[in-house]
Amino acid sequence: MPKIRVFLWQLCHNALPVKGNLLRRGLQIDPLCLTCPTEIEDLDHIFMHCPMANAVWDMAVTHQWLPNLPFNHPGSTLREELHLLAQSQFPWLSRVVLLLWSIWKSRNAFIFKNEVPSSMGTILRAKCNWAEWKLRTTSLSGSFYTPSHSPQIIRRHPLPLHHIGWKLPQGGSIKLNFDGTKSAAGAAAGFVLRNWKGGFITAGTRFLENAPILVAEATALRDGISTALQAGHCRLEVEGDNQIVIQAVQKQILPPWQIAPIIEDIWNMIPSCESISFSHIYREGNMAVDWMAKYGCLLKSHNLSYFTSSPSREFLYILTDDNLGRILVRKAA
Ligand SMILES: [Zn+2]
Repeated sequence: MPKIRVFLWQLCHNALPVKGNLLRRGLQIDPLCLTCPTEIEDLDHIFMHCPMANAVWDMAVTHQWLPNLPFNHPGSTLREELHLLAQSQFPWLSRVVLLLWSIWKSRNAFIFKNEVPSSMGTILRAKCNWAEWKLRTTSLSGSFYTPSHSPQIIRRHPLPLHHIGWKLPQGGSIKLNFDGTKSAAGAAAGFVLRNWKGGFITAGTRFLENAPILVAEATALRDGISTALQAGHCRLEVEGDNQIVIQAVQKQILPPWQIAPIIEDIWNMIPSCESISFSHIYREGNMAVDWMAKYGCLLKSHNLSYFTSSPSREFLYILTDDNLGRILVRKAA
């Protein structure tokens, strides 16, 4: 089930927005567990050490949904424990994963909806999803986990799934996302600059009338680099979803004639950077700048419009979700 896959991916990459992680990323929040006033809420606490989690695991055993407690190595982290279970081909690994997911859902309902968690409710949710999963895997071929022989995740979709999210740049670097867009109103270019803590610096957009999308993309990149340099940011990590522009800037292909002068401008700016890297990212990891470019189509300003604070609540939500580690699933060939 995609929702469980995403959860598992986030769990294995320590990308779940638990309070301890958010604090480490510089968000000003109270990092303590809701029920344990002296414990920092991190992955191991939520799923292994919190009395709420322990009650769930105990009940899963007494109700014979699991034959024994799954985590038995004192001092091991959750990820180490899961690795051990997978290695030993623990036949109930998928049930453990569903319980972890259900504990996470209970935790979220407690924080965001003030619903006091109950162990029974958490187990019932896991059981319902287990039943749903069983139903799906008997009607479709392949499965999520195959406990009998291989604990590895088996691909059920004909296309591989990519889990894509916006990532923080290296310490001291600035992330520049650029994007061009084309709508019925015309084309527009947009860029967003954020620091290594995910803090918003500047965004900009300009309207380009009937320009081709390639020109919009290249213009977005030129505007972004020039704005960053003017503000004194010389270490840049650039990301965009247009392969042609990225390859042209890196001199891997000859720049198409429509964008040749723009690429030339970019080449002239690159020596002013202390460091600069270019990478391709799918649209799902580029949501903030996608929004900004579309906003340019509404503004219809041929001059570059700058924003040093979020121009809308919707944009702010995207920035916040990026910082919280939102992961989107993309099916790709
Ligand atoms: Zn706790």
